[in-house]
Amino acid sequence: MSELGLHDELAAIVGDLRTWIAVQQGDCARVPRGPAPELRSDPAGTEGGAEHTPPVESSSLVSAEVRPEVPEAVEAKPAAPTPEPEEFPPVPETRTPSAAPASSSPADRLLAVLDDIGDCTRCKLHEQRTHVVFGSGSPEADIVFVGEGPGYNEDQQGEPFVGKAGELLTAIIENVIRLSRSEVYICNVVKCRPPNNRDPEPDEVATCSPFLWEQLGALQPKVVVGLGRFAVQTLLETDSSIGRLRGRVHPFRGIAFVPTYHPAYLLRNPSDKRKVLEDMKLVRMEYERATGRALPEPLTRKEASSR
Ligand code: SF4
Repeated sequence: MSELGLHDELAAIVGDLRTWIAVQQGDCARVPRGPAPELRSDPAGTEGGAEHTPPVESSSLVSAEVRPEVPEAVEAKPAAPTPEPEEFPPVPETRTPSAAPASSSPADRLLAVLDDIGDCTRCKLHEQRTHVVFGSGSPEADIVFVGEGPGYNEDQQGEPFVGKAGELLTAIIENVIRLSRSEVYICNVVKCRPPNNRDPEPDEVATCSPFLWEQLGALQPKVVVGLGRFAVQTLLETDSSIGRLRGRVHPFRGIAFVPTYHPAYLLRNPSDKRKVLEDMKLVRMEYERATGRALPEPLTRKEASSR
């Protein structure tokens, strides 16, 4: 996708979300504190596979702002009660936990995990990596985005979610959720790039995922967003497809877990952007409910375009 095309696409995405929220909530400036609506999940099943819901073009969503009507893809249902918070799982006995005690600050706990990883050779993914991609963002983040693993650009730069997919994720965070990228935290299930961008293998996930648990234990986020099939299935410990899992909030260690499509998938399948917008609305609602802080309205398409 060209720079101009990506820019237009991002503008369309944020414009659509604003319109959709306006349609759902009238002119209400804030998201209500009531139960989270459960959105109809895609019955088709697979990320990138056939979809039963026909794609909705941006133009039709924009026209809904003038002629408000409830999009047929949305069905409000009462949400399941949120379970009591609990600590993330302890580090497995097969590995020595990172040095910082739980009473340390999130920043110190993250540094201890980073120090523990070091120049890691614990699994075979170290053989072809350029950099360990630990994660980036605020140690005080309330929202954590978790992807599958580093790709080529991430491996080269040592940062998660850079390149086109990273730009799209940043735009969604800044223009739709309305936090800066530096206010959230972004990381992956495995910290080294799988060759040829293949899925991480079970032994690699088993070896590396304790670092993710330690990161989440340090951060204690209010909302975790799973990006893409692999991360979602790994974190929720399920074989269900992303199409069946997304569109609703899942309880996850006492906090909200929102599955959604990976931004790289969205770049290849822009017709699914509406589903990602629905998921981001859930992220906003859960963030506001958990923190008591109101987020600014998503940018309009015009506002996003002028950035
Ligand atoms: Fe170590 Fe994780 Fe990299 Fe494997 S993927 S070498 S466990 S940091």
